[in-house]
Amino acid sequence: RSNAEKFEFQAEVSRLMDIIINSLYSNKDIFLRELISNASDALDKIRFLALTDKDVLGEGDTAKLEIQIKLDKAKKILSIRDRGIGMTKEDLIKNLGTIAKSGTSAFVEKMQSSGDLNLIGQFGVGFYSAYLVADYIEVISKHNDDIQHVWESKADGKFAVSEDTWNEPLGRGTEIRLHLRDEAGEYLEESKLKDLVKRYSEFINFPIQLWASKEVETEVPVEEDESTEDETETPSTEEEKEEDAEDEDGEKKKQKTKKVKETVYEWELLNDVKAIWLRSPKEVTEEEYTKFYHSLSKDFSEEKPMAWSHFNAEGDVEFKAVLYVPPKAPHDLYESYYNSNKANLKLYVRRVFISDEFDELLPKYLSFLKGLVDSDTLPLNVSREMLQQHSSLKTIKKKLIRKALDMIRKLAEEDPDEVHDDDKKDVEKSGEDDEKKGQYTKFWNEFGKSIKLGIIEDASNRNRLAKLLRFETTKSDGKLTSLDQYIKRMKKAQKDVFYITGSSKEQLEKSPFLERLIKKGYEVIFFTDPVDEYLMQYLMDYEDKKFQNVSKEGLKVGKDSKVKELKEAFKELTKWWKESLASENVDDVKISNRLADTPCVVVTSKFGWSANMERIMQSQTL
Ligand code: ADP
Ligand code: MG
Repeated sequence: RSNAEKFEFQAEVSRLMDIIINSLYSNKDIFLRELISNASDALDKIRFLALTDKDVLGEGDTAKLEIQIKLDKAKKILSIRDRGIGMTKEDLIKNLGTIAKSGTSAFVEKMQSSGDLNLIGQFGVGFYSAYLVADYIEVISKHNDDIQHVWESKADGKFAVSEDTWNEPLGRGTEIRLHLRDEAGEYLEESKLKDLVKRYSEFINFPIQLWASKEVETEVPVEEDESTEDETETPSTEEEKEEDAEDEDGEKKKQKTKKVKETVYEWELLNDVKAIWLRSPKEVTEEEYTKFYHSLSKDFSEEKPMAWSHFNAEGDVEFKAVLYVPPKAPHDLYESYYNSNKANLKLYVRRVFISDEFDELLPKYLSFLKGLVDSDTLPLNVSREMLQQHSSLKTIKKKLIRKALDMIRKLAEEDPDEVHDDDKKDVEKSGEDDEKKGQYTKFWNEFGKSIKLGIIEDASNRNRLAKLLRFETTKSDGKLTSLDQYIKRMKKAQKDVFYITGSSKEQLEKSPFLERLIKKGYEVIFFTDPVDEYLMQYLMDYEDKKFQNVSKEGLKVGKDSKVKELKEAFKELTKWWKESLASENVDDVKISNRLADTPCVVVTSKFGWSANMERIMQSQTL
């Protein structure tokens, strides 16, 4: 086209497209849900803008917030159209080709290792999945701030953008025209599309319409001499009927009618727009919750979320919420944890989608949860910035945290593996046991670090979070155990909870600090994650027990009358050591009963950095 401007795809995007177009991935169906999801996002955006300015919606059909799917069998074109926010020329260039999203290279890597395209939506590059089924795509788009443009590409490294002077004006929104590949003919079948929308796009909050064919039978009167001609024109079956037949000589002429089967087209609604969170939790099935999770998280790995909580908060601040623990942590959960805003809850106000970048709903450490909040109390017609300041947000956040921690606690309580030998008699075996077995260990492996970060960051929930903590100990036999279990097993004479920090359990097991404690039958917690050092600076006590790092000063293990005698006997030697080591930054030299076979050991002072902390600070692992 003469007015087309040509562009090259950003290198990573180009690579991604190459992989997609050459992919042998069999589940090509996923492209439809990605395009519908984009249409839905675009509709959410315009509906949000309309809250403060009704005029943005326009008039007539343009104001209808819906998604339309149309087929052109002859030309092998499948088009998906929305009346969402649309894209300006600049948007088309940036969003569909020149600016790579942060997830692009991560996804390319993942694709190359697993070949699984199913998670494409989670990486923010879902649009390109359309090249699984099309070899040429046109994106026609009209944004309120610009004239209509066409973006087009054959996925050959280049794309073009032109001012649209030939298509029908869209009013506002976007039409994605897929020129289907020969082998993608199945997507020209209405039944296939209906099936896909049902399966993948059940929870889209806008009507999805298909321009669907329908056979209708009509009875039409025919002139006698016409009837033969008609028969050849219409392939459908016809029956001729004679009505009111009379003699040729009679006054009435022979009246002939025929039944004609015709194919007519009309919009057929494919989804019933239902907001699962507005229904009573009792009425929603497990399968529906799972499917809703998939659509919410764009995680279509078919895995079930580990847990969910659906509730209705009443009182001064009213809202409904559904929270999920995902089956797996996302690839970048702890990446630049302190510098990024990660929000995974979608905020709605009275069913209108407001934002999914609203990070005031949950604290950072819970950002691994997915879900949705629909508030009745927040005002609808204010900006995002004003919402952020609204007083009821604090209450919402507090309740969400409480519910989230409850949900995680239940996950542990329901896990039969979490019940230790000494409690076993209280628990009855149930059929659910097998499914719940090991679920908390799984949770811990995926999200344990978040719980630790929570203990560091959230003083008001520290105790609740500490209950969720799991670790290995000198007695846990390779399994995870909890503080409650540890305390139950504590020896009578033991006042503090003992722990030791280091880089691995194997290394710690050989530590001279443990020799005597183990001999005497004490249990010591192993903390081997770099974050544990920080954790223990915040976790001072639990259920009125203090924590004692066994490599630090202050370790008390029962009474030992011999120490006093020994102190006396070695008084001079101790003094000599202390003086000789004064220049080596050694604060003190003491007689102690903490060792068994090792003659001496370097201990850190109570408020000093442990040796492990020194190691961490040197390598800056956090
Ligand atoms: P994501 O949806 O995760 O952002 P996609 O690859 O699916 O990633 O889409 C890329 C971008 O293209 C979107 O963020 C959006 O800006 C734009 N886009 C895609 N489809 C539409 C559409 N139907 N209407 C408006 N913008 C769209
Ligand atoms: Mg998308």
